[in-house]
Amino acid sequence: MQINKNFDNLVPNYLFAEIAKRVTDYQKANPDKDIIRLGIGDVTLPLAPVVVEAMKKGAEELARKETFKGYPDYEGYGFVREAVAGYYQSFGVNVSADEILISDGAKSDCGNIGDIFGTDNVVLVTDPVYPVYVDSNIMAGRKIIYAECSKENAFLAMPDDSVHADIIYLCSPNNPTGAAYTAAQLKQWVDYAIKHDAVILYDCAYEAFITEDLPRSIFSVEGARQCAIEFCSLSKTAGFTGTRCGYTVIPKELERDGHNLYKTWYRRQATKFNGVSYPVQCAAAAVFSEEGQEQIKINLEYYKENARIIANALDELGIYYTGGKNSPYIWLECPNGMKSWDFFDLLLNEANVVGTPGAGFGKNGEGFFRLTSFGDRDKTIEAVARIKKLLAG
Ligand code: PLP
Repeated sequence: MQINKNFDNLVPNYLFAEIAKRVTDYQKANPDKDIIRLGIGDVTLPLAPVVVEAMKKGAEELARKETFKGYPDYEGYGFVREAVAGYYQSFGVNVSADEILISDGAKSDCGNIGDIFGTDNVVLVTDPVYPVYVDSNIMAGRKIIYAECSKENAFLAMPDDSVHADIIYLCSPNNPTGAAYTAAQLKQWVDYAIKHDAVILYDCAYEAFITEDLPRSIFSVEGARQCAIEFCSLSKTAGFTGTRCGYTVIPKELERDGHNLYKTWYRRQATKFNGVSYPVQCAAAAVFSEEGQEQIKINLEYYKENARIIANALDELGIYYTGGKNSPYIWLECPNGMKSWDFFDLLLNEANVVGTPGAGFGKNGEGFFRLTSFGDRDKTIEAVARIKKLLAG
């Protein structure tokens, strides 16, 4: 018997465990202190009423023999895929319902998509990076190369034609940096991918936070249908982190190595995935209804305003950051050349505010720090006041 030895190559994921430990230790030693958490990547506001109603109605249908449903279609019910296609249409992108596959979230699909690609492919990720792209490819034993992000490129790495990659993970708006690609920048990646016969795996889990004139989908870029697969999620868009629903788009004509990628992924899903529950798919479809779109906007605006409050404070302090505008994440440079964990300790001890050290997202995260806008408004205002007092004083 042998275990998959590639797991030995994973770096222990101590980031959130270490944060929790330091916060718990501090709270134990200082039980009277009110700690505010701006490190969380999870939403805090409830589901929209129209979404909850749809979920209940779906559950009630399962309770009656005449309307009962068993296994859903592997690719998701047609009514949800039509709703997603309509959503794409609302920002001018044409994808058809039969290019959309409903999933239980973007993490599963981003992590599992590697099943359809050979293990000898070279994988390119940006640094800093959402760890799922790295860890899932380490598990598969693939070689990973890094495109460097830094202040110099505003944390938006661009392709280098002298370096070959077969699989490219892009995340825009980005976790953790909040930086978002322009259409012209994405076009350069698309051109690179076509030239190198590569596939872009495009994660736009945060597209609903875009406020400026930036691409909501890679399929708004010419040529993307020849080289890209897109992953999206209702987790942050509509508060589905606990409900679980996302979608993946694979153009029907996309082929590599003589194989159709939609068909290959469908085959994979049909083997290892039995679909998303009917009430959740009803809830997902309700997100894309007119009423649903209006209702989810209220929560999105709440988070966006939190992000503005944090970003404005950093502007006042003259601290460099990316994100905050088209993203729930604010990625800031630690003041006075501090290291990520030193800044974490300073904020925890002196301001009783918790964030996420950038070093946990890759070597280029050292010296940077992530704050999120998913918290409570009053607490965000209070945290920002404490940070300003600490850093301006
Ligand atoms: N992709 C990115 C970039 C994320 O930050 C997250 C969640 O934090 C996900 C995907 C996971 O999304 P889901 O909840 O749909 O699995």
